Amino acid sequence: MADVIIVGGGLAGLFNALLLNRAGLQVTLIEKKVYPFHRVCGEYISNEVLPFFDQLGIDVAPFKVSHINRLEVTAASGAKFSYPLDLGGFGLSRYTFDHYMYQKAKAEGVTFLLDTQVEDIRFTNNSFEVITNQDTLTAPLVIGAFGKRSNIDRKLKRPFFYRRSPYVGIKVHAKINFPDDLIQLNNYKDGYCGVIKVDGDRYCMCSLAHRDDLRKYGSLEALQEKIICQNPYQKELFDHAEILMDKPEVINEISFEKKQPVENHILMSGDTAGMIAPLCGNGMTMAMHSAKILSETIYRYYRPNRPFPAQQRAALEQAYEQTWNQQFARRLWLGRQLQNLFGSNTMIDLAIRSLNQVPALSRSVMERTHGKPFGLSNPFSFAR
Ligand SMILES: Cc1cc2nc3c(=O)[nH]c(=O)nc-3n(C[C@H](O)[C@H](O)[C@H](O)COP(=O)(O)OP(=O)(O)OC[C@H]3O[C@@H](n4cnc5c(N)ncnc54)[C@H](O)[C@@H]3O)c2cc1C
Repeated sequence: MADVIIVGGGLAGLFNALLLNRAGLQVTLIEKKVYPFHRVCGEYISNEVLPFFDQLGIDVAPFKVSHINRLEVTAASGAKFSYPLDLGGFGLSRYTFDHYMYQKAKAEGVTFLLDTQVEDIRFTNNSFEVITNQDTLTAPLVIGAFGKRSNIDRKLKRPFFYRRSPYVGIKVHAKINFPDDLIQLNNYKDGYCGVIKVDGDRYCMCSLAHRDDLRKYGSLEALQEKIICQNPYQKELFDHAEILMDKPEVINEISFEKKQPVENHILMSGDTAGMIAPLCGNGMTMAMHSAKILSETIYRYYRPNRPFPAQQRAALEQAYEQTWNQQFARRLWLGRQLQNLFGSNTMIDLAIRSLNQVPALSRSVMERTHGKPFGLSNPFSFAR
């Protein structure tokens, strides 16, 4: 029997699996897809994660990642704001990164159930039943790492699930003429497109758009032509791009609403606990950071083959909730405010003008939406 069942194998699930397995727990991770696969994501990873990667022996250098140290924010009017990134980041596709983490966790002993969908999670008598489309599993702990929106949110009747969100995400990989050290955020009516170089000599162009615009123009091609290419920088890129995917990756109902980090005793991690607006460019980092916080908290309160009374569970949940809120609640709040600002061409023009006139403003926004470089508090507990 597993000590912990992790539902969802994105970065939150994979990092929790790696850490808890190293801490001596029996870990089963259930993922509905089969690696490797593409995801809608801008694929920019903040360098906040580097000390953590060092401690875990995660080396992304062989993938020839791009090193990003400049940000440009552009508007449909042609206005542009340029900013050197102090900490910076790198570009790495989710196709490559998630697959690498899966192989690493599997080689270290994590049990994976792939191509398996969780249908329900029940908590009774201080223990969980996880019902999949194939089987029913039991465990004393369950981590919810099923991303921004899942069938499990409906089962749990999470309030955000019933409030429709208008955002659609579209990602393509392409060959384009674009600097290797730059992340560009090109704004247009109701959305923006992030552009960076990732591994394998490819460039990621990931757009956020409004459902009504997609409905109005009827197809992704028309949306690209009529809305996304309102931005002259993005138009130039699309006009000369060699698209490397048969079809774009698309998701809808992307919600930035508040969620709870613990629900029905399920410990939520990554986007399942709360998703930051993509324009902040650090949802992946937050997913990995939340896995660190959660794994450390579990390590403090839970030991395999020992009783795990309800009182101890309550203490674990309370400690996780508190640490999660301290680390992420303000960032998520600011992300929501920025998301409301981006989308109006007039507001973006105004924002770019203000940022150009008051450079200190951009530093303040950066500092408030990002964290600091982080690592494990006690790496020996998670040593391989
Ligand atoms: C348009 C867009 C652009 C973005 N750009 C960036 C960026 O540039 N940089 C950045 O850091 N972040 C970015 N993000 C955010 C980032 O993608 C997420 O924050 C990150 O993927 C969260 O990881 P996760 O592990 O929580 O969830 P996910 O990566 O979504 O993983 C969840 C997993 O759970 C699985 N799953 C769901 N339900 C079930 C079920 N019932 N049973 C089994 N498995 C299930 C799914 O198949 C999936 O593999 C962007 C997001 C969007 C939408």
